Amino acid sequence: MRERQAEREAAQGRGRTRPILPAQVLEAFCQDFLAADRCREWLLEQLHPAGPVCPWCGKAVSSPRLRLSWQNLGRVQCASCGRFFTALSGTLLSKTGLDPAAYVLLGLHLALGAGDQAIAGKLGVNRETVRRWRQRFAALERAWSEEA
Ligand SMILES: [Zn+2]
Repeated sequence: MRERQAEREAAQGRGRTRPILPAQVLEAFCQDFLAADRCREWLLEQLHPAGPVCPWCGKAVSSPRLRLSWQNLGRVQCASCGRFFTALSGTLLSKTGLDPAAYVLLGLHLALGAGDQAIAGKLGVNRETVRRWRQRFAALERAWSEEA
């Protein structure tokens, strides 16, 4: 009985705390809710399981200073071939303008079945951009399932 009263008061906003409903969580959820460093680390682990390697000549980055720069998505010059690259060079994220947390947010919303318009609002991009991303992922999924 007491619980019901508490629920009623919460529903009416008269309780000591305001109710936070799932729809409000979804509406409020944005990139700021994600740990940017963890998103970046996780993406780099996925993209480069073997660690930092020059995408041009395949030589591993051994200098601690350059490895740190690479991990922070900075530009690195290969000690072997002299060419420049970042951890995102030649990857899905290259030249997309999405930072790692935005990419995680995009993937999360796509996986949960959110619509293009809703995702566009979350990422601050237009709907057409989201539609192209969705097509790109669908093509990748098809390519990978054919390989397997
Ligand atoms: Zn190289």
